[in-house]
Order: sequence, then structure tokens, then C-alpha cells
Amino acid sequence: MTNPATAPLADPRKPAILIVDDAPDNLGVLRSMMLRQGYQTFVATSGDRALDIAQRVKPDVILLDVVMPGLDGLETCRRLKAHPATARIPVIFMSARGDTADIVAGFDTGAADYIPKPLRLEEVCARVRAQLRLRSSTDTQSEQADRLRTIVNSMDQGLLIVEACGRVQYANPACDRYLGYAPEELVGLSLKDLLDCPEAGCCEGLDAIGNGTREVKIRHRDGGLRAMDLTMTPMHATDGLFVALLHDITHHKQSEDALQRAALLDPLTKIANRRHFDAFLEKEWQRAIRNAQPLSLVVLDVDHFKLYNDTLGHAAGDVCLQRVARTLQDHAARPTDLAARYGGEEFVLLFAETPAENAARLAEMIRTAVEAQEIPNPRSPTSTWLTVSVGVATIVPTQLDAIDNLFVCADRAMYAAKAGGRNRVEATIVGTAWDVVQDAALY
Ligand code: GH3
Ligand code: MG
Ligand code: MG
Repeated sequence: MTNPATAPLADPRKPAILIVDDAPDNLGVLRSMMLRQGYQTFVATSGDRALDIAQRVKPDVILLDVVMPGLDGLETCRRLKAHPATARIPVIFMSARGDTADIVAGFDTGAADYIPKPLRLEEVCARVRAQLRLRSSTDTQSEQADRLRTIVNSMDQGLLIVEACGRVQYANPACDRYLGYAPEELVGLSLKDLLDCPEAGCCEGLDAIGNGTREVKIRHRDGGLRAMDLTMTPMHATDGLFVALLHDITHHKQSEDALQRAALLDPLTKIANRRHFDAFLEKEWQRAIRNAQPLSLVVLDVDHFKLYNDTLGHAAGDVCLQRVARTLQDHAARPTDLAARYGGEEFVLLFAETPAENAARLAEMIRTAVEAQEIPNPRSPTSTWLTVSVGVATIVPTQLDAIDNLFVCADRAMYAAKAGGRNRVEATIVGTAWDVVQDAALY
């Protein structure tokens, strides 16, 4: 008989069988049979002992006699099932009571099996094996479920189980961080309501969202929109359900946007760079063709800037360029105006939907504004102050015209301003179709 206080813990590599019978002969026979099967055995001759040993060694199967003095088998089984530590251990009853009512009563206590006495040892072994197989597959399943639960609870991505109509059935804890809702608050909400869809009817069904990954905007509980990758995968095992994975890409998007913005800016003056200007001009050019509207290009070059740099230093020259850039920027008031540093000390400005007279007037305002800052250019032969020469070219473009031609004309006007003594504006109206360039000095 095993003393529960000194009973060794079950060897985890061998199945452990607890045999409970008040008849020592039965115990002996069963025990040697179980040992021959390679099992560890524990024996008890009463219900009380059985409960103690079961608590301590947590056997894999309990063979339990029904009729015993004191605590009988049925009550022992009830108590085993009532305790969380032993509730899941399969109990096989052994009894000479073979009436249907006895067998039903046995199963009703939570037993896994009921073997009639006299015992056929081969049958007992087969039934024990069956319970061990069942138990190991149940254990594997619950281990897998535990593992899955741990993964889903600790994963960084938001995971939702969603019905085809969009209703959320389950949300993992990460969804709270992504959407601002506790998982239980998300259950019952519609994923479609959380998505910010620009196209009407785009979320009529989750089928419309489609399988695979796409970038979406999701409304956080705080009202803000978050950019996320949403991956929808149908669950084949359970028809009509989808696994939705959310991956927050807001920060990624923000830095991508910042990079994109930086790629379009001139680092010194923080106004648009040449690349940005060229792309902008291309768009406005096409729009001007469609609307038959005049487009004016201003080219501006700092006068005697080399002398300025040579006299006051390159750093002071940089500050000058920043001030000129700011002046230009201040005159690019409409969304369709764009001021840019085109290179070195040369700047450009585009005025869309602006006829020649207006563009020349704006150019003159810029020229005056630079001069009015009274930035000393001590060795300039043409002015005490830093000044600029400005060329303006205006065109109502057609499909036959080329952007390059507008640039050539504005450059020529600017060089005409230089040749005319600097610190002046020269304006040109670019002839179209017949390719006639008509210089028209408006000042
Ligand atoms: P002009 O009146 O004929 O335009 O004479 P200029 O001296 O302004 O013309 P030039 O083309 O001979 O000289 C341009 C000068 O601009 C030379 C160059 O060192 C200076 N420059 C170009 N880019 C920068 C810059 O980023 N910072 C500074 N400080 N100077 C620059
Ligand atoms: Mg210059
Ligand atoms: Mg120059």
C-alpha cells in the first residue's frame, strides 16, 4: 500500500495508474498486470486513501472499485470530479453490479468507463489504453489552445475574428492600443463602421474588402484616423468568418510623408526645390492648356552675388539667399503659385491663371521688396543694396507648345534685365502656335 505522504511523484515519462480496491487480491492482480504494461502503479484500499494519492501524484487513469466500506467508489469519484486538481483524471469503475441503473449512476458521477466484474484482464488493459490515448489527445488539444491563446494575447498586431457582415466576434488585447477599445467593447461592433472609406459602398461586405492585405484608414476611439495594413483571411474551418489582422503603419506613414516632403524642399531656404517646381509646373501647364489660361513664369537672379560672397563671406551669403527666398515665398499667395530655389542664387516663381500685366506687377513688387530690405552689398557697382534682376514670361499654352520654350523666354528676359543695368524686371509674352517670340518691355 502506498502512503500518500511518502508516495513518489509520478514519473512523467510513464503513465501512472491508481488502482483502488478494498480487496487486496484484486489489487495484487491488477497491479502486476499494469506493471507488465510498463505503467507506474499506485494502490489504495479505500476511497479516502485514493483521494489523498490522487491529489499528490495526479495519476493518468484511476481504476476504481464501486463497492467499498466507508467512502464508496461513487462518492470517491464525485469528490475527485469536484476538485480542480483531479477533475480531469479519467476514472474507470470496476464493479460486479452490472445493472443498467448501476452503470448509469457510475457514468453520472463523471466516470469515463465502467468495467464489469469479474474482470477480464485483457479488457481492463485495453480500456486503460483507450483512456490514456484519449487523455493524451485532449492534453495536446488543450496545450495547443493554451499556446494559441498566449500568442494571440501577446502579439503586437491587432487580431479580430469578424463575420462576413463585418460584425466583430473576437478581438485580442492589442486592438485596444490600435483602436482605443477594450476587446470586449469591440465585440458586436462593425469593422465596416470603423473603416474610413472614401469610396461610397466600398465596404458593402467584407468580400468587397477582399482577401489579402491593403492599406486602410481606421477611426480610433479618440476620433483620429490611423493608417493601418489590414489583412483579411477567410477561416476555412468555420464558414463565413474572417481573421482580420491590423498592423499600425501611422508612424511609418508619417516618416514616409516627412521624407517625401523633405525630398521636395531646398535644404537651405526651405522653399520648394527644382524637382518639386518642375513637377508642379508640368501639372499647371496641362491645366492651363485645358482651361486656355495664361501661365506666368518668373526667373530671378541675385545681382553681383559673387561680390557679396567674396566681401562678406559665404555664410552671410547663405542668410541673404534665405531672405530672398522668404520674400518670394511671401508673394506666392495662391495655392497655384509656387516659389522655388532653382539652383545657386537663382529662383523661380510660377503664377498660374495670371496674365502678363499682373505677373509683371508681382515681379516688380518682389524686386522692390528685396531692395527695400537694404541688405548692404558694398562692392556692387550697380547698387548700395542687394538687388535682383527679374525676367517674366507669360504664355497661354497649347498642345503645340513646349515648357522649355517658356523657360528660355523667361531666362532671356532676366538676362535682358541684367544687360539693362540690373535691379529691374523685364517681361515677355510668349507667342504660341506660330512660334513667334515677341519681346515686350512693359517698363
Ligand atoms: P550677376 O549679377 O551677373 O548675377 O553676378 P553674380 O555674381 O550674382 O553671378 P555669378 O553667377 O558670377 O555668381 C553667383 C554666385 O552665387 C557665385 C556662388 O558662389 C554664389 N552662390 C551660389 N550658390 C550659393 C549658396 O548656396 N550660398 C552662397 N553663399 N553663395 C552661393
Ligand atoms: Mg547673380
Ligand atoms: Mg547666377
